[in-house]
Amino acid sequence: MAGRSSGRGTITSYVVSALNLDTWRDLPAAQQPEWPDRGALDDVVTELRGLPPLVFAGECDRLKDELAAVARGEAFVLQGGDCAETFAGATADNVRNKIKTLLQMAIVLTYAGRVPVVKIGRLAGQFAKPRSKNTETRDGVELPAYRGDMVNGFDFTEASRVPDPGRLLRAYHSSAVTLNLARAFTKGGYADLRQVHAWNQDFVAGSPAGQRYERLAREIDQALAFMSACGAEPAEFHTVEFYSSHEALILDYDHAMTRIDSRTGLPYDVSAHMVWIGERTRQLDHAHVEFFSKIRNPIGVKLGPTTTADEALTLVEKLNPSNEPGRLTFISRMGAGKVRDALPPLVEKVTASGAVVTWICDPMHGNTFEASGGFKTRRLDDVLDEVTGFFEVHRALGTHPGGIHIEFTGDDVTECVGGGHQILEEDLALRYETACDPRLNRSQSLDLAFRVAELYRG
Ligand code: PEP
Ligand code: MN
Repeated sequence: MAGRSSGRGTITSYVVSALNLDTWRDLPAAQQPEWPDRGALDDVVTELRGLPPLVFAGECDRLKDELAAVARGEAFVLQGGDCAETFAGATADNVRNKIKTLLQMAIVLTYAGRVPVVKIGRLAGQFAKPRSKNTETRDGVELPAYRGDMVNGFDFTEASRVPDPGRLLRAYHSSAVTLNLARAFTKGGYADLRQVHAWNQDFVAGSPAGQRYERLAREIDQALAFMSACGAEPAEFHTVEFYSSHEALILDYDHAMTRIDSRTGLPYDVSAHMVWIGERTRQLDHAHVEFFSKIRNPIGVKLGPTTTADEALTLVEKLNPSNEPGRLTFISRMGAGKVRDALPPLVEKVTASGAVVTWICDPMHGNTFEASGGFKTRRLDDVLDEVTGFFEVHRALGTHPGGIHIEFTGDDVTECVGGGHQILEEDLALRYETACDPRLNRSQSLDLAFRVAELYRG
């Protein structure tokens, strides 16, 4: 593979080129807003550059080490949150419920997998959305599409849909508030393992599918009781490492949030611990891949069913030329009907090249369909089937199914169908609240965790 040399010359030239963070500007960039006023954008970018980092480079490095452990098969990733966060959604209740649900899922997966679960929120920065169509039409009226609270407003009015650069600043502050809450919830005692387990016991007792999960919940209970009886009281029982991530879509924002780390002299996008490139912006010769090649965070790339093995290899060469473990995560999002055919050639060829990649599965984005009432939805059964296929593919190839990336919320919304509470297509109108794609609700997320735990146990 090109550029793997660790000779002095290579490192020197890498550092020099890494410091030119503007090379993406010469390349086409998909999915960028048409800001009406460049001057206003420049003012916002200048202000963002002067604001404190939301995360520290050392934290990004720690996550990179944890993702390297995932690539070795020694840990599992649980990454999730809203499809699109909103400014109005940055409330204590909302953030707490998401974190609570993620922790509940993590405990089940930790026990079943017998490995640490790396917890990454799709949170504190997930404010921009790529769209398949530039406009939206309702009752014969056509307006620019909603592109996330970081860009324009959700309201279907002409004024609200105009991109407003001031929203980049609001996204920064909303991310700061959310991350502050997330840090408080995960470090301040709220995440106590026994408390999280007690919530799971409540879920099992109240779920129509609960019987199926009782054995696993009882085993976890016994394991915790055994450790208490031994007097074991590790710090890990009380606090949790929690990381933030988002799709770094709006390059003006993520570029403005990139700082040179004083320890290493290298650039990090300090708006989140991990950032990823979406399916619609992963063109090899476009701006997103170029920008991501310069930052030193752990990064992800979504891979849909049309991805070729050669594209995957080129992404590896561009984004991780020194083959640093934990640097690059491929997030496959094939669809339940395609994962068993589309994923194996990618995993095989990347593995044969010697590249170290962390593989995780997004079982949401390949399984979206429009329900009879016009709502965009997903079936929990399809989500489960894609995760099952992902495990099958990796087991057959001897590689590690490294984790899942999901869209979920901690509230009782009705956006996806199925699950223990049997949400039907005709129920979707009851609480359909998402600003973009349909999310698993709290109980569907826990259903998913128990079912993935079963997969883990074979
Ligand atoms: C998303 O994660 O919300 C998304 C748009 O996914 P993808 O890039 O995989 O289509
Ligand atoms: Mn989505």
